[in-house]
Amino acid sequence: MKTLILLISNDDEFNQGLIHYAQQHRQDTEWILPNDQQAASAEVAACWFPDNNTLSQFPNLKCLLAVSAGVDHLGSALLTSGLPICRIVNEEQQRGMFEFVLWGVLNAHRHFDRAHMNHAECHWQRYPQQAAPAIRVSILGLGVLGKYVAQSLAEMGYSVSGWSRSLKDIDNVTCFAGNASLPSMLKDTDILVNLLPLSPATTHILNKKLFDSLPHNAYIINCGRGGHVNEAELIQAVTQGHLRGALLDVFEEEPLSASNPLWQTKGILITPHMASEASLSSIVEQTSDNAKRFEQNFPLMNKINSEQGY
Ligand code: NDP
Repeated sequence: MKTLILLISNDDEFNQGLIHYAQQHRQDTEWILPNDQQAASAEVAACWFPDNNTLSQFPNLKCLLAVSAGVDHLGSALLTSGLPICRIVNEEQQRGMFEFVLWGVLNAHRHFDRAHMNHAECHWQRYPQQAAPAIRVSILGLGVLGKYVAQSLAEMGYSVSGWSRSLKDIDNVTCFAGNASLPSMLKDTDILVNLLPLSPATTHILNKKLFDSLPHNAYIINCGRGGHVNEAELIQAVTQGHLRGALLDVFEEEPLSASNPLWQTKGILITPHMASEASLSSIVEQTSDNAKRFEQNFPLMNKINSEQGY
């Protein structure tokens, strides 16, 4: 008997890819969409931006499997439902995130951002070259992605610090924990990388108060979630010259509307939520494995802590 997985997602193309992969490689599972006649009996759902009323539509659900690393898209009703929730954890995604952050770090460290802006104005200007250890990179979030990025940047010679809820011990990374310690890390930061999950505790954490705690000319890289940034306060900090600029991959509104002033803010570089993806194969394999584990009453993999919401 195949394990039934109800796929609730707002992205038709993504759904087709997942279903096609599962049909080819996971014939022990059956992935169905909400309009399938078996949907009402499904106990396990694979989710990507599910509706707020998912639980009233499908009251038999007993386990939610986010098809992503972050779970904020499930929304508060599902996150606080008490149902077990799992997410995707993927080595390729760690590597991809490091590549993205490295690009951002090099942009600021080697002044490629400034050279690019000068190009637009046919302006020739050289900048002094500094060695990696002179550049202080701080990471918000030392989880699966943040820890990997911190370790990899430290191996490249950068002076790396990191901040999390509970204190970590990571070779060659200065670790800070808890709200009270954040200003101590920020004051010694040239490049701040956000890799926190979005939760009530981290919403708009990148705000004026935080920017003011950074040294003049600090650079921001946000690849967490758009909800982490107070966009108006970021634009102000960059246009007033306190911050040197920012690389933003994620936004409160995606796709980012053409009228959003972030596009026009000199010093802000925008990428369309492309920092790092989990592969289709890892999503289908992990989701299928977890659905089977749930069915067989085995411990689930990559389960989030529902109290903390990540
Ligand atoms: P994890 O859950 O593994 O790690 C989260 C880290 O953040 C932990 O170190 C945790 O601390 C810390 N943290 C959480 N809340 C707080 C808080 N209030 N104060 C201080 N530290 C806190 O997440 P991942 O590393 O897997 O992913 C991080 C985020 O990256 C995802 O939630 C997602 O939003 C984003 N992402 C973005 C992608 C993109 O393409 N732009 C791709 C993939 C993910 P502790 O260890 O003490 O619990």
